[in-house]
Amino acid sequence: MQPQPSRRRISPRRLAALASVTVLTLAVSTSAGNGRLSPDASTAGAGPAALSRSSAHGPCMITADREIQMSEGIPTTPGYTRSTGTVRALTLMIDFSDAPGEGDALDRYREFFPETREWFATSSYGRLDYRPELPVPDWLRMPKSFRAYGIERGAPFDPGYRDLVRDIVAEADPEVDFQSYDLLNVLVTPNAGPAALDTVLSVTFAGNKEAPNADGVPVSNASFVYSRQDDGSGSYDRTGYRVLPHENGHVFGLPDLYTAEGGGAVGHWDIMSEDWGANNDFLAWHKWKLGWLDASQVGCAANPGTREYVLTPLARAGGPKLVFVPLNGHSGYAVELRTRAGNDEAVCRPGVLVYRVDADVDTGMGPITVYDARRDSGGCTRSPNVHAELSDATFAPGESFVDRRAGIRVAVIAAGAEEYRIRVTRTARN
Ligand SMILES: [Zn+2]
Repeated sequence: MQPQPSRRRISPRRLAALASVTVLTLAVSTSAGNGRLSPDASTAGAGPAALSRSSAHGPCMITADREIQMSEGIPTTPGYTRSTGTVRALTLMIDFSDAPGEGDALDRYREFFPETREWFATSSYGRLDYRPELPVPDWLRMPKSFRAYGIERGAPFDPGYRDLVRDIVAEADPEVDFQSYDLLNVLVTPNAGPAALDTVLSVTFAGNKEAPNADGVPVSNASFVYSRQDDGSGSYDRTGYRVLPHENGHVFGLPDLYTAEGGGAVGHWDIMSEDWGANNDFLAWHKWKLGWLDASQVGCAANPGTREYVLTPLARAGGPKLVFVPLNGHSGYAVELRTRAGNDEAVCRPGVLVYRVDADVDTGMGPITVYDARRDSGGCTRSPNVHAELSDATFAPGESFVDRRAGIRVAVIAAGAEEYRIRVTRTARN
């Protein structure tokens, strides 16, 4: 089995030019991916988060019916990094003879911290205590040139990344006890490889049981960040770190939500869809999957009939956050309330977001699709690098999402500053 990388998205500005390349690499990824990346329980590290659920949530815990690389299914399969409690992120800065680190390696570290730690604290309502640790506060020089590793966009784990991970382990081992950490961040010197605007190399190998061992444990969850995510819009100082929360989303088991066509399936509603431009949060589905919501915060609308639910803003701690309406064992509709707060700085039309989740659809193939309450409106955002059309996708009081074939209606019936009320109607089918 050849572990395949989870790639981060392409800059929207470069998407048109790179579209053919993207299609090609995705095709390579799916055809070569003949098995799942997640190791079985016997080789698992920390495992997935303890999920909050009750027996009433059973029908809403959709799972994949087939073998895929990374699934939206709940619970997350074993082998990924635990996403609650204290998580220690070994963070190393590396450079090469043909790309020597310029200046202080700690400056590279400071491009991502403390922002990434704060991003996770905010998004998880304090449930993920993400601790970046740098036992080697200097550039770690690799024994081969950058060129010699043959790393390019879409490169699989073998042979280049296997060599690189082995060399990182060998060089760091005198100072690092790899057993003490839950995940590995490799911050590559920004002068190695092309600019992020030209091609995106940043990549994560997650749940990778083929990974080399270090101090007796496999380096199975590792994120590699290249270049600087500078789109030229002048926001780099504030937004450039967001590639790392995206990549680390993969080590916690989350799939890519952008597709070969870009961010049009989910827009700016989740950092696994778009990590360029203004800050954004995770979807409530991801927060449940990661163990950041209690059972009492998730409603499961599995039974026929009409029922009303309260939703409180996703960015605020406490209160009900997610209603799920299952279609079958592997898919359903998720409903949540998004407002401009917390990590959600680009929300320009607060309201109820409705999206379909399909645990059978693989990473990068569109496992989640947001429904646009205002199709072809052009959207309400003017933020650079934010997918515009879906920015006003939310449903307002008086509006409804309807799936006639499945007999499902989600109506927004009241809105206040503290909470919204929705009514879910399911028609019984024979
Ligand atoms: Zn990604």
